[in-house]
Amino acid sequence: MQAPTSTQIQTSSHAPELQRITDAILARHRFVLSSHARPDGDSIGSQLALAFALIALGKSVVVVNKDPAPSPLQVFPGVADIVIADRADGDFDAAIILECGDLDRTGVTGLDRALLINIDHHPGNSGYGQLTWFDPNAAACGEMVYELVRALGVVLTVEIATHIYLAILTDTGAFHYSNITPKTFDICREMLEAGVDPVRVARDVYDSNNMGRLKLFGAVLSAMQIDRSGRIAIVYLDHKMAREAGGTYEDTEGLINLPLTVKEIEAVVFFKQIEGDDYRVSMRSKGDIDIGVVAKEFGGGGHKNAAGCTVSGPIDALQKQFVEKIEQAIDGRPADR
Ligand code: 5GP
Ligand code: MN
Repeated sequence: MQAPTSTQIQTSSHAPELQRITDAILARHRFVLSSHARPDGDSIGSQLALAFALIALGKSVVVVNKDPAPSPLQVFPGVADIVIADRADGDFDAAIILECGDLDRTGVTGLDRALLINIDHHPGNSGYGQLTWFDPNAAACGEMVYELVRALGVVLTVEIATHIYLAILTDTGAFHYSNITPKTFDICREMLEAGVDPVRVARDVYDSNNMGRLKLFGAVLSAMQIDRSGRIAIVYLDHKMAREAGGTYEDTEGLINLPLTVKEIEAVVFFKQIEGDDYRVSMRSKGDIDIGVVAKEFGGGGHKNAAGCTVSGPIDALQKQFVEKIEQAIDGRPADR
């Protein structure tokens, strides 16, 4: 048997960037925070954890997002104060962009009028901003925010801890995806010690949907197709289907993960009609299957197990193209576990 390892949380190997960002924040007063359009749990959690930490330091903070938080997240502290706008107005000393691979993906203009700080974990981050801290190994941007909050010397409050936990819970797909490390659990343990109720958070995130959403899930899953190898689920939604089921496109959040609960299914591709032949494509995969590479080939991007893009063309041809590329990604993975 080996000697027990230390339970001390490892400090980041990105200490220089973290230190520069910490110094820049401590020397300034007025902040604007933003993240990618159509924010998810990691965007909301990362922004609000940092916002509460900055407020604890006596700073002034405005969070500006292009789109509202998903409805289950509306009950989380501070969400009601997020400004929904496509422009950051007023004077500020620095804009901190969290969980966003490119400045354009915020959908918010005017963020680069002051010092621009980029904190993110998305592979392919464009490196925008005067100060960039990029860690593709972080399971969630919320893990990076945890380190920043500690570096700023802020004592964890239940609000800060709840948002860090929310970010990690949602961005790991409730602890399903890769990039989870012992540190992920060390941070979560510390958040629980700071007062987070994990049952309450899970209920708020996963068990507070409306009936239209359940009906829409039923309609979409009934129409699901499986490729000939039996490993890829192809899911489709258009406006007519959503209307008939009594749900909205927003209600499909999380739907894409369900086919992966079937043992044989290794990847899912979800086509959502935007208009005519234009489609939003979301993909998910298990284990070592790199779906991010597939998204990139179609002009999008993302992570190994979660990625997306926007494409145009006849749906049958698109589905065939994606299935072919995904089959290649499945067959080309390093080794079967
Ligand atoms: P979703 O399927 O939830 O829309 O996106 C999953 C992940 O894929 C996102 O967290 C993001 O990293 C990435 N992603 C989705 N769509 C795009 C896109 O159009 N461009 C890029 N670069 N990444 C995307
Ligand atoms: Mn994330």
